[in-house]
Amino acid sequence: MDVKLLKKCKLLIKKYKKEQNNIRSLIDLSHTDMNEEEKYFLEEKYNKILPEPGRLVVISKYNCDFCMVAPKSESRVYQLYLNFGFQACENCLKLNKPQSASINYSIRTKCVGYFEFRRWFPENHFFNKTDNLYKIHLYINRSDGSIDKWYMSQNNFVMQKRADIYFIVTDGVKIKAVPLTELKDLNPEIYQCEKEIREKFKIYTNK
Ligand SMILES: [Zn+2]
Repeated sequence: MDVKLLKKCKLLIKKYKKEQNNIRSLIDLSHTDMNEEEKYFLEEKYNKILPEPGRLVVISKYNCDFCMVAPKSESRVYQLYLNFGFQACENCLKLNKPQSASINYSIRTKCVGYFEFRRWFPENHFFNKTDNLYKIHLYINRSDGSIDKWYMSQNNFVMQKRADIYFIVTDGVKIKAVPLTELKDLNPEIYQCEKEIREKFKIYTNK
């Protein structure tokens, strides 16, 4: 995702929040003379404007998290982590709705999922040259002072914690949050794009 699209999505988030506010006040105003069905419809509409990501297992292919009416063609998944994210129809994908909802989620949580993180970089970038199990291998410091090669998997993410950005990595059993400051000293590929990661993370997770 380039910076131009990111900025476009941020404007969309503002627009969607305004729409949500309008529906919310409509619900509040007409609270007494609305029947359950009407109330349910408006709540549904509210939730579909800027939905929260969810688990993508046992789902119907003909569902769109952003549309009130089921799409006619199969929808696609927009994953943040493995099996977690949004389902969107072609039209909503074109309108950048899942992308915007994903940014909205990251602004609130200060977390960026594995797939979303990789979308920040071009196809031939280090983060997109994974092995065939989609692992991104990284050198890390062990507590005993040795250096080990762990990896970022499809279930992992990057997050802000105190003043640094942390990568969640694993050796397949244990999980560890490693700061970017440490990773860049051990991994030349990260050293090269450290500034870019910080800048993108900042734009992505701030309002
Ligand atoms: Zn849709």
